[in-house]
Amino acid sequence: MQFYSTNHKSENVGLEEAIFRGLPQDNGLYMPVAINPMSDDFFAKIDRMSFREISYEVSKRIIGDSVPHSVLREIVETAINFDTPLVQVEDDMYCLELFHGPSHAFKDFGARFMARLMSFYLQKTHKEINILVATSGDTGGAVALGFLNQPGINVTILYPSGMVSNIQEKQLTTLGGNITAIEIKGTFDDCQKLVKQAFLDSELTKKKNLSSANSINIARLIPQSFYYYYAYSKLKAKGKPVSFSIPSGNFGNLTAGLIAKRMGLPVEKFVASTNVNNVIPEYLETGKFNPRPSVSTLSNAMDVGNPSNFARMAALYENNVDKIREDVEGYYFTDEQTKEALAKVYAESHYIMCPHTAVAYLGLKAHMDKKTKKESGVFLGTAHPAKFMDVIQEDIASHIVLPASLKVAMAKEKKSIQMAPDFRLLKDFLLK
Ligand SMILES: *Cc1c(COP(=O)(O)O)cnc(C)c1O
Repeated sequence: MQFYSTNHKSENVGLEEAIFRGLPQDNGLYMPVAINPMSDDFFAKIDRMSFREISYEVSKRIIGDSVPHSVLREIVETAINFDTPLVQVEDDMYCLELFHGPSHAFKDFGARFMARLMSFYLQKTHKEINILVATSGDTGGAVALGFLNQPGINVTILYPSGMVSNIQEKQLTTLGGNITAIEIKGTFDDCQKLVKQAFLDSELTKKKNLSSANSINIARLIPQSFYYYYAYSKLKAKGKPVSFSIPSGNFGNLTAGLIAKRMGLPVEKFVASTNVNNVIPEYLETGKFNPRPSVSTLSNAMDVGNPSNFARMAALYENNVDKIREDVEGYYFTDEQTKEALAKVYAESHYIMCPHTAVAYLGLKAHMDKKTKKESGVFLGTAHPAKFMDVIQEDIASHIVLPASLKVAMAKEKKSIQMAPDFRLLKDFLLK
């Protein structure tokens, strides 16, 4: 499979180059040149397939022969070695819990798949690389845990000081080994800008063999399409159209769903659910894409003012907002509404959601309320509520059971390097 740049000014590259470059030189994003549909036979038997079988078939279709099939199967099986329950929360409303991996957020799917794919290529070439990644919370933990102790790979993580949860910070800053955490005195957008600058700096990329692990990396996006098929497989027998609500920040998760649909997955609607950082819901309403500085909210992994995967969404639909609207609906919610939803769902269904998941729940509700036709609605559960204990109302938070691995991380001591959001400082540090 070849990959093109959404800016169309860089040449097409193969999978290996797309993964290790992360970002094309023209500052676009990589996308597969062709998105081929899954076979009718695949959809006919999907409800009898396991998550891993589905994932293997889908990855093979996207990646083609770039990786030997036996290797791909092993990558899929070792990357996705945890459960993905589809939990019914209300009539026709299900939470797809994507948070049972090591970092307890959905980003484990992308990070673990990508780490193994990179390892495969690095073992062949005996190269060493430096992963540079910006995180608004969950990427860092997933990348750190996904890449920990992988030979030939060093990881540097930039996160906004004071803007990630206590548990998230511990996950980033307590692993040691090949993982370094830099605490930026700024916002997530500052972190993301620094990473972008680093990738456009030829001295740095040459000397340090830089690679990205953000959702801009195509290797992160591919495995995020697997679970849309899986949720569909579980609901197929109900015979109703299926819609998905995705709590969104950089829109990698939603874009992966759009790719799944383009590959033939029958999805009625995608709901782009955001907090007050509503650049995409606003775009869907007005047709104008107006990026701006992010505002901090309870659902901090979605505090993104310039969603990077918008370029991919636009490319998929030829920059035609009317076409996007056919598949995607947008809603945004305040922290107040998020808290109310969390409390309401706990009171009525005894189900505890993290604030991001609560935003997705609200988006799905808003979508379903408008429909006359019955649908099966899936909202994506993107993080374990335990990771957001400190922002969940005390009497609800007290019922959350902390997963064992989070307990271990909490007991460790934080180690980070503090830095102002100044590219010069970052460059010096990385070159040192
Ligand atoms: C990263 C993240 C999101 C947003 O995902 P995008 O792919 O950036 O849109 C939502 N919820 C949680 C918990 C996350 O970590």
